[in-house]
Amino acid sequence: MSDVTSHGAAVPRAEPFSATRALFDLPADTVYLNGNSLGPLTHAARQRVAEVVASEWGQHLIGGWNECGWIDLPRQAGDRIAALVGAPEGSVAVCDSTSVNLFKVLSAALRMRPEHRVVLSDAGNFPTDLYVAQELLAGLGDGYELRVVAPEEVADAIDERVAALMLTEVDYRTARVHDMGDLTRRAHEAGALAVWDLAHSAGAIPVDLAGSGADFAVGCSYKYLNGGPGAPAFVYVRPEHAEETRSALAGWMGHEAPFAFDLDYRPAPGVQRMLVGTPPVLAMAALDAALAVWEGVDLAEVRARSIELSETFIAEVEARCPGLELASPRDAAARGSHVSFRFEHGYAAMQALIERGVIGDFRAPDLMRFGFAPLYIGRDDVLRAAEVLERIVCERLWDDPRYADRKKVT
Ligand SMILES: *Cc1c(COP(=O)(O)O)cnc(C)c1O
Repeated sequence: MSDVTSHGAAVPRAEPFSATRALFDLPADTVYLNGNSLGPLTHAARQRVAEVVASEWGQHLIGGWNECGWIDLPRQAGDRIAALVGAPEGSVAVCDSTSVNLFKVLSAALRMRPEHRVVLSDAGNFPTDLYVAQELLAGLGDGYELRVVAPEEVADAIDERVAALMLTEVDYRTARVHDMGDLTRRAHEAGALAVWDLAHSAGAIPVDLAGSGADFAVGCSYKYLNGGPGAPAFVYVRPEHAEETRSALAGWMGHEAPFAFDLDYRPAPGVQRMLVGTPPVLAMAALDAALAVWEGVDLAEVRARSIELSETFIAEVEARCPGLELASPRDAAARGSHVSFRFEHGYAAMQALIERGVIGDFRAPDLMRFGFAPLYIGRDDVLRAAEVLERIVCERLWDDPRYADRKKVT
């Protein structure tokens, strides 16, 4: 894939993802390295939302649920995501947020292991995951407990008290990757179930939900899947658990016959029972259209390209900005698709970068985070980002009072 120039830098022969890049509606003069937080707009989503508003909602009114297939969107978008995370058709649904879906699957897992009392997670997990578990367990009382250990201690902390192992595969700060297959196997050996959060995995690295034996999974669709701000999340139930799975959060859209209006809950078959209320059709339409971008895309190629871009970025930043310290694993195989650097003045430096058209984000206390989504990010973007960062750090351009003001969203 790469040539080597006279000064030793690897340059690709062609931009291998130029076709997918053309599907995105990116502002000019912007290097967008924050698709790990909010994926950019696709032309397809823009058109589809306009169409759904004008032709479907506008013309079909309530008939849209049947005539325009709105009612099937959770399943349809779910099948598109299933193909990206190694799950069989019909095992993924799109609904609610990642936090809410985690509550549902965690409650279901605890109900399937009534004799176990511990949920095991790690200190690198995203806080919302821990909050969901803390309050669910507090409500259950009865000796239930959340045990949080360091990420590297998870394997040894799995014992026969554990009901559910609850982990995020790719650490949102450092991009450190857990071994999903190995940890799931260990959980099963101890009689526990494995619940995985794929927020920073889906669309970023190849995931094999079926092969890994994972029991439940959840994940975001507004990050690498480009579904749009606040796009509904996904939830996976391992097919062999489908009939046993009972969430503590039930609603009519997860009923076997919503329009029978029975007074008693009877769960719909399979993952469909994870639905609760009415699907947000405009958001689902944007997501469904954005997912079409993945047709014909090979995730192994995405992964290879993401590693190439990330390695280039790390080498360039380390050569140009000695004050920055790599916070992500140096081994590409142990790293997801974003790269984080520690810098004491990281917040201000990120604001300075954003003002100059290079968009990443900041995670407290001192991490500058850069996401590499090969569908629309190329080598030129990576080099430009490193150049701008070098100027900001070496010329202390971050040292300006207007970059010090912390915004609500960092
Ligand atoms: C982004 C992210 C979330 C976000 O959850 P929402 O309910 O969509 O706000 C959850 N978990 C992880 C690991 C994340 O990275």
